[in-house]
Amino acid sequence: MGEHQHTSAIARAATPPLGADERVVPGRACGTCTLCCKVVGVLEIAKPAGVWCPHCVGGKRCAIYDARYASCRSFLCQWMLEKGLGPEWKPQRAKFVLVKTEGGKHLTACVDPFYPTAWRRSPYYENLKQWAIEGVRRSPDLHLVNVLIASRCIVILPDREVEIGTLAHDEGIQVEMKKTYAGETLEVRKVKKPLTP
Ligand code: SF4
Ligand code: SF4
Repeated sequence: MGEHQHTSAIARAATPPLGADERVVPGRACGTCTLCCKVVGVLEIAKPAGVWCPHCVGGKRCAIYDARYASCRSFLCQWMLEKGLGPEWKPQRAKFVLVKTEGGKHLTACVDPFYPTAWRRSPYYENLKQWAIEGVRRSPDLHLVNVLIASRCIVILPDREVEIGTLAHDEGIQVEMKKTYAGETLEVRKVKKPLTP
């Protein structure tokens, strides 16, 4: 079975905002939620994940809203995009933001470091686990579910969670199916991302 590698440092991508609004579930809005301004990195100002953006006033509003960065304009969390995620998944309430990367193959729960175990509560944990099971079933086109608490990374596998420590911007996650005497098992480790020319 092949290996599968994902990048995992989550930052808002500086993609154009065109069409972004059309993807939002009708009736859904950020409202008083600002959690992505804390738990997701902002590339333009090298804001790391897990700390409030310096422009977020009191964790309540963006002081530069009309001139906010392109990556802020285009960012939408999964709660805004997926009809099946009910009100309990709103990041402000869940205390984590679901983000998909790698063309939808990588689902990350970016957790508020103030509530580091929020993802373990019900119904979140059961769902994350189920998505991890479904993701591995797609092997070799494996879909990965992980948790990021600032830069601390935990990979959710069908049978266990693997804490892989802090994940630097130049590091990704490698998941590999290994054959053992007891059967097949998934191994997870950090790897350096290939340098882009
Ligand atoms: S986490 Fe989602 S709902 Fe909350 S402010 Fe960001 S995009 Fe809006
Ligand atoms: S610039 Fe504004 S929208 Fe962007 S992360 Fe900071 S507070 Fe949030």
